[in-house]
Amino acid sequence: MMVGAVCTFEGCGKDAVAKGLCWGHYGQQRRGTPLHPLGRFRGGPPKVRRTPPECSFEGCHRPNRGGGLCDGHRRQRDRRKPLRPLGLPRGRPRRVALERGDALRAP
Ligand SMILES: [Zn+2]
Ligand SMILES: [Zn+2]
Repeated sequence: MMVGAVCTFEGCGKDAVAKGLCWGHYGQQRRGTPLHPLGRFRGGPPKVRRTPPECSFEGCHRPNRGGGLCDGHRRQRDRRKPLRPLGLPRGRPRRVALERGDALRAP
C-alpha cells in the first residue's frame, strides 16, 4: 500500500491515483488542458477582485464609486486636476488659533 503519495501538482495535496496526479489533475492532463488548481482545494488564496472596495487614493478610505475612486476624487479627476487629499482647505492650511489663550498659560 502506497503511503504519502500525493498529487504532484503544486499546492494540490490530494491523493495521487495515477501518474503522480490526483483524479482531478489526471483528468485535466488526459483532456490535454494545462494543469490548473481544482475548483475546490483547501487553503488556496481567494480570488482577489480587481476593484478595491475603497478609493484607491492613498490614505483615502471613502467607498469606491467606480474607477477605483470615491466621489470626491472622481470629481477631482473630472476637473483634470492632480488628485489631492479630500477635506483639506484650499491653499495654505490656516493657523489654528493658538496665539491667544494657550500662550498665556504656559506652565
Ligand atoms: Zn491534484
Ligand atoms: Zn478618495
